[in-house]
Amino acid sequence: MDRRFHDHPAVTLGAAIADYFGCDRECRRSRPRLGSCDMKPRQYRYVGPDEIRKRVTAEPHRTPVKSLGDLRAWLAAAEPNPRRRDYVPATFIVDLSRQLWIADRRSEHVACAAGEDVLSAGELVFCQSGSVIEIIEATNQSTGFCPEPESWDVVATVLEETGIPHPNGFTTAFQFRRCDACGSTNLIKDEVFECSVCGAQLSRAWNYASAE
Ligand SMILES: [Zn+2]
Repeated sequence: MDRRFHDHPAVTLGAAIADYFGCDRECRRSRPRLGSCDMKPRQYRYVGPDEIRKRVTAEPHRTPVKSLGDLRAWLAAAEPNPRRRDYVPATFIVDLSRQLWIADRRSEHVACAAGEDVLSAGELVFCQSGSVIEIIEATNQSTGFCPEPESWDVVATVLEETGIPHPNGFTTAFQFRRCDACGSTNLIKDEVFECSVCGAQLSRAWNYASAE
């Protein structure tokens, strides 16, 4: 358990003011006990097989997206036929400096992250119609990093800064849990907290080791 969110040493004036005035909806939803926008988001470390990390991080094929223009250029290269740009999925990560990186959807997230820790990871689906580009689907589906649904807050901030139209949250949000008995990563379905490999009870709280 990451203690930062639960044993916050002091509520800063800025946080208190933000809390008093309602902060923003996303922030209150994800950190309801504190309601502060000032806290650092959780850092996720790669938790997948080490052989994949070693294999794919030597020469990562990934593109930084700092603007809508960057995305437009990536889309043109990824899908040369403009008529097929109505549904272009991609792997994404947000690095620790809040930079968005995208890669071909078949890419491993750890490759897209160049082996580094991330603030979020998952899949984005882009749609281009004429000159209009938007994100029509977004998920936190990354078994390499197992990010929480709450990591959307960082994704939303980054997308706002880059000016890319996007949904109001992950269109599909996944809950990952590590089995304490056998070490498997489980995707929680229908609120069933039971390991699909060994049947053990799974933690109700996100239970991977944070990167710091
Ligand atoms: Zn298990």
